[in-house]
Amino acid sequence: MMSTMVARGRTISTEPGGEPAGLRPGTRLYAGFVRGVLWPLMNRAYGRSIDRRMRFLDRSQWWTRARLEVLQARKLRRLVEHAYLRVPFYRREMRARGLRPENFTSPAMLRHMPLVTKAMLVEDPHDFLAEGARLESLVKDATGGSTNQPATFYRSREQDSWHWALKYRMWGMAGYRLGLPYVNIYNMRRRSLRKRVQDRLLRNCDFYLFEESRQDAVLARMLDVLSDPDVRFLAGCTTTIRVLAEYRAALAHPPPIHLQAILSTGSLLTQRDRAYIERHLAAPMWDHYGLGGEGAHVAAECEVKRGYHVNAENMIIEPAEPGCVDSDEATEIYLTVLDNHAWPLIRYVTGDRAVFTSRSCPCGRGLPLLERIDGRVSEVLRLPNGVKLNTHYFSVILAEVHDIDQYQVEQTARDVIVLRIVWRRREQAEALRRQIASQVETVSAGTVRVQFEDVAEIPRLPSGKHRFIIALPEDACVG
Ligand SMILES: [Zn+2]
Repeated sequence: MMSTMVARGRTISTEPGGEPAGLRPGTRLYAGFVRGVLWPLMNRAYGRSIDRRMRFLDRSQWWTRARLEVLQARKLRRLVEHAYLRVPFYRREMRARGLRPENFTSPAMLRHMPLVTKAMLVEDPHDFLAEGARLESLVKDATGGSTNQPATFYRSREQDSWHWALKYRMWGMAGYRLGLPYVNIYNMRRRSLRKRVQDRLLRNCDFYLFEESRQDAVLARMLDVLSDPDVRFLAGCTTTIRVLAEYRAALAHPPPIHLQAILSTGSLLTQRDRAYIERHLAAPMWDHYGLGGEGAHVAAECEVKRGYHVNAENMIIEPAEPGCVDSDEATEIYLTVLDNHAWPLIRYVTGDRAVFTSRSCPCGRGLPLLERIDGRVSEVLRLPNGVKLNTHYFSVILAEVHDIDQYQVEQTARDVIVLRIVWRRREQAEALRRQIASQVETVSAGTVRVQFEDVAEIPRLPSGKHRFIIALPEDACVG
């Protein structure tokens, strides 16, 4: 299957055609209808230009690196100029540093700009808002994400169009074509009606693993949908996909599965997990690196699967220590988003680490590569009622709780979860504790007790890293 993809090389496209072989005529016809009719209409109705961005990205991935850098430099210059003129934080900081927009002749100039941390964004999101824009009218993403600090991120419609177009390009590298049916495993339900209608039209079948205590029933329904020969794509968090693989592996007579690609994201994909999932779900994985809560699709594996291609048309990924490039040493990633003028993010400290490389990929794409992503090892909490929760469970339920500065979850016994909290504000603390306890009660069917500890800070590991979910020792390494 992989060799087919490699052989196709440059013909991989998000344009009509190039679909997987052997689909039913109805599936093929509907996919064509989505791409030709429905998708352009939906774009117009929602005030987006995802379709146009998709066509652009389909071409630009094959540009030379030099040409992509010219594009980045041009976008960066425009962004910095805009931020200087219209965004309070950047105007203030640039003036204090004696920087002017015309100094930004190349991305290398970025290092003269201040770093932006999540704490700064939480503290005063309006400081990053462009004059004339309103936070309420922007697209919102919330995170506990890859660190344990709840925050909200905002993006303009323009950036939202890039965001979705990038997602479809990354999926396109694995052979996905818009309009084909796929299954998505989420942690928790997204409640917007519009989103649900959209999912239905785009043949997206969603499952929610952490909504209720009958996880096995959800997994069984999922395998049932996956037994349809036309369902060739499965997407979700690495850990939730792993839970599905474990479930199927344990069945005496697992139902057939016809996947062409498994699209994973959300936490570090170890070689061991990859091998396990590929074996038990019978398809190759295509791993993506993104900042889910921040709403940034950062990098994706191509068919060659040696490193992650950065989505350079829309962002600049900067190594915290430039000396680390090509050294096989991981360094922190700073993110600059190039098309979000309403709420610009310039040099955002992601908290993630990667090994940067300057080598080119044999696939021929000019998009720069990250050799590998480091950190964000995910752990799974196994509850007495059989439900498995991953790292993201708590980050999702706490995502918009800005009263919490940081937290750490530790399963100290099979039936006890300790939640340590550094409070930012305590007025609602009691109500929030009750709310969290009740959510865990639901998912665990009452088999787990949550104990709360108020702490002044979360202790770091000897390595200096924060660890914000700690499973029982015997579960720490699931295998
Ligand atoms: Zn490649």
